[in-house]
Amino acid sequence: MERSFIEVAPTSHFPIQNLPYGVFRPRKGGAPRIGVAIGDYVLDLSVLEESGHFLHSSLAGKKIFNQSSLNAFMALGKPAWREARAIIRRLLSAEEPTLRDNHALREAALIPQSEVEMLLPAQIGDYTDFYASKHHATNVGIIFRGKENALMPNWVNLPVGYHGRASSIVVSGTDVRRPNGQMKLLEQTAPVFGPCQQLDFELEVGWFVGPGNASGEPISIEHAEDHIFGLVLVNDWSARDIQAWEYQPLGPFLAKNFATSISPWVVPLDALQPFRVQGPPQDPEPLPYLRQSGARSFDIHLAVDLQGEKMGEPQRICTTNFRYLYWSMAQQIAHHTVGGCNLRPGDLIASGTISGPEKETRGCLLELTWRGAEPLHLANQEQRVWLEDGDRVTMTGWCQGDGYRIGFGEVTGRVLPAIRTNP
Ligand code: MN
Repeated sequence: MERSFIEVAPTSHFPIQNLPYGVFRPRKGGAPRIGVAIGDYVLDLSVLEESGHFLHSSLAGKKIFNQSSLNAFMALGKPAWREARAIIRRLLSAEEPTLRDNHALREAALIPQSEVEMLLPAQIGDYTDFYASKHHATNVGIIFRGKENALMPNWVNLPVGYHGRASSIVVSGTDVRRPNGQMKLLEQTAPVFGPCQQLDFELEVGWFVGPGNASGEPISIEHAEDHIFGLVLVNDWSARDIQAWEYQPLGPFLAKNFATSISPWVVPLDALQPFRVQGPPQDPEPLPYLRQSGARSFDIHLAVDLQGEKMGEPQRICTTNFRYLYWSMAQQIAHHTVGGCNLRPGDLIASGTISGPEKETRGCLLELTWRGAEPLHLANQEQRVWLEDGDRVTMTGWCQGDGYRIGFGEVTGRVLPAIRTNP
């Protein structure tokens, strides 16, 4: 198995097989720049770029890594990503002396992750949120509309999605304020205004768009994956009471636009290739523009931990897997652009809540507690139906290789009380 000269534990998320990209700022000062995670370190790519290590590649002469976002690198496309990844991999390899034996370069380029602040990896122009898990869509349909109308007839024929809000996407570690809004609970005859009473998380996976497409020119299903730079974990915070009142007929609005948290490390699609798996069978067969050959999905373990203010440690409340998604990333991209919509480098597309067939694989509280009918029993005797102020939600994800993990790190956020307003 390939190894780095940097010590990496078998359970670390960041072995030499992963090499996710992120934007960081050293805590001791300095401008934001781009690095990759390796073990407990960040490799500062701006230092390697400055010292000429990308000269013999298509990145030569460009300042790609001395930047505060990954957008320029994302725009270069797959051949350039592969070149950069090969160079970085070689430099970090246990057999390669260039960085390993150059003390000064190592000192300059390798920074402990504990000494950096992670920032949003991209300037996100547009954010689209899909609804691609059949288990999730079915459960939510039953809860909101009953068993007979659980799945709308369109659902198995196209990946349902909506245009989300890019301005409120925050990086892991950012606290999230409980939104105020308008809602009408079942027992009430008129709507009321106030702090959301049904705050939820949504466990999702998101992917960043690399090269975009020209307006009017769809991305075909065969080429869709060439437009995926890499993947992150997404917590798409949701206000269920606001959502239930506002969502008809145009879908969610304020229930979803107050905050979306993402993990800071973008895992390259190439790092996930060994973990490719078949997606679930699709019946009916999709229309030709959505027909994808080969293995559509990836075996990514996902989990959610909850820690309330009175809890000594976090408690795992959900374990699920990316492979449960019905619609693939490629199908979502092909559908997104089939009418001519242009994607741009740095756009974020997310899967929607990922739920599986068993109760513990449900990726949000709405499903886990069946809208309150089955409260979660926590180890410290507390119960949860919805998130309370002070609750911390942490999501993690990884692919399990033979003796190594391709990890996503985590996306974490704590709930702050709502701003007090006059009703
Ligand atoms: Mn969502």
